[in-house]
Amino acid sequence: MKAGMIGLGAMGIGMARNMANARLLTGVYNRTTAKAQSLAKELNITAFDQPEELAANVDIVLICVSADLDVLAIVDSIAKTVKPGTIVVDMSTVSSDTARQAAVMLAEKHAIFLDAPVSGGVEGAKNGTLAMMVGGDPNALKKARPVLEAMTGRIMHMGPIGFGQATKAVNQIMGAGINQAVTEALAFAQSQNLPMDKVIEVISGGASGNWFLQHRGPTMVRDVFAPGFKLALHHKDLKICLSMAKQSGVSTTLIDMTIADYERLMAEGHGDEDISALYRLKAVDSD
Ligand code: NAP
Repeated sequence: MKAGMIGLGAMGIGMARNMANARLLTGVYNRTTAKAQSLAKELNITAFDQPEELAANVDIVLICVSADLDVLAIVDSIAKTVKPGTIVVDMSTVSSDTARQAAVMLAEKHAIFLDAPVSGGVEGAKNGTLAMMVGGDPNALKKARPVLEAMTGRIMHMGPIGFGQATKAVNQIMGAGINQAVTEALAFAQSQNLPMDKVIEVISGGASGNWFLQHRGPTMVRDVFAPGFKLALHHKDLKICLSMAKQSGVSTTLIDMTIADYERLMAEGHGDEDISALYRLKAVDSD
């Protein structure tokens, strides 16, 4: 089965390397072509000039781009050339409605769409340990599995198209809460003049330990906010969560608070920093 990857950002590049290392990747496409050319050279695969060209030459198309409109633009392009029976797996974080729209566009060409967002951050993409939540035809997932397994530590079929993205929305709401909790708690620790690396180490081994504390705690307390997961992308995800939550009538307190905090940080020019930059709003000014 020939696979092609579209989108070589912070996540896509690690995913592509892992598929290539497993000898499962035929070629890549990226909007900024220099990135695709340099990776293709490194991995000895093809750099396609257009998504249409990639789609015409593979049996499985993997996508990881920024937002809803970007996914729909890519799907519109590949629908022009995709072969019947091709499986298109979108690993971007977008709304369930976008997933369903993409599936309809591809079904008209007898191609099969799976929404397969991931969690695990840039580290997970690099190390091939992502958790993947999938919506769509289970038989298509079975066929795509060998390729997806090169990038993931866990793959879970959640239900029909859109259920992968709905599950990812759950993850994003939880991530907002964890970010709020960890940044506020570490700002408190700093205000008590505690030894921060020891605080992070000991708490990581107890009941409040979590991935974000372990991986982002040591950098945030040094005012280092290199992405990671860009704050502007999490903001985009939380807007999706907000609209889905409003439709169902559940509480949105945490989502509202985090969106407002991120908007303040984005207005101050921090949108391209890691989400741990929320610490900027919590930390006591040492001046
Ligand atoms: P990123 O570093 O900003 O990369 C975005 C990629 O999408 C780039 O390759 C960009 O091309 C491409 N792109 C954007 N708009 C496009 C368009 N209209 N047409 C073609 N290509 C387009 O983002 P990322 O961190 O890799 O995230 C990608 C997706 O994964 C997002 O949906 C994000 O929410 C999700 N995600 C991210 C993380 C994380 O920790 N970063 C974790 C889980 C899920 P250029 O190179 O030309 O800009």
